[in-house]
Amino acid sequence: MTAGGWGVTGRPHSPSEIKQFLLDIQSPVPIDLWVPDLMDFLHHHLDDLDPTYVDLKIPPCSYIQYQKAQTGAIPSNFVAIGNAVMAVNPVFGQGMAKACIGAVTLDRFLGCLRKGKSIPTNFSKRFFALQAARIDGIWYVILCRAFSLTNSVFDV
Ligand SMILES: Cc1cc2nc3c(=O)[nH]c(=O)nc-3n(C[C@H](O)[C@H](O)[C@H](O)COP(=O)(O)OP(=O)(O)OC[C@H]3O[C@@H](n4cnc5c(N)ncnc54)[C@H](O)[C@@H]3O)c2cc1C
Repeated sequence: MTAGGWGVTGRPHSPSEIKQFLLDIQSPVPIDLWVPDLMDFLHHHLDDLDPTYVDLKIPPCSYIQYQKAQTGAIPSNFVAIGNAVMAVNPVFGQGMAKACIGAVTLDRFLGCLRKGKSIPTNFSKRFFALQAARIDGIWYVILCRAFSLTNSVFDV
């Protein structure tokens, strides 16, 4: 279970604190009742469950723009998708979308390869160009939204 947020102080470290944290969230959709019930259950069975709590700090957003690499700078059979290309703050909920876009794009390119033929010399370049056309928008939307938050950090 992740109890996260932007600049959260006094992060919860027990089922009862997590319950209060969740109940304090101001959302247009009320939290499902099974969630506080689950926290109460965990609270009463702490001795049996031996829970662990981990504080995670999300690393800076980053976008490695392989599509801009000079010809010959990366091997013709090299591809990268998902977080290996673009890592964004999970607050924006775009991580899985661009990972899926990368997978679908790669599937299209692999599907076009003829059996028994070697990978074309421009394979990597063409793959990164199409992937960039499909995921650039995610990056720019996130840039716009994150720059409005004072503690944003980027690796561009
Ligand atoms: C707390 C949190 C909440 C998130 N919430 C959302 C959300 O609500 N919606 C959303 O869309 N996205 C969310 N994301 C982002 C999303 O999880 C990632 O963008 C997505 O998982 C990226 O997929 P990936 O396959 O590229 O990388 P990963 O899922 O990170 O997979 C990489 C895998 O490679 C393995 N690995 C690493 N190094 C090596 C190595 N040297 N050898 C072998 N294996 C290795 C890792 O163990 C891992 O299993 C969240 C991320 C976090 C951290």
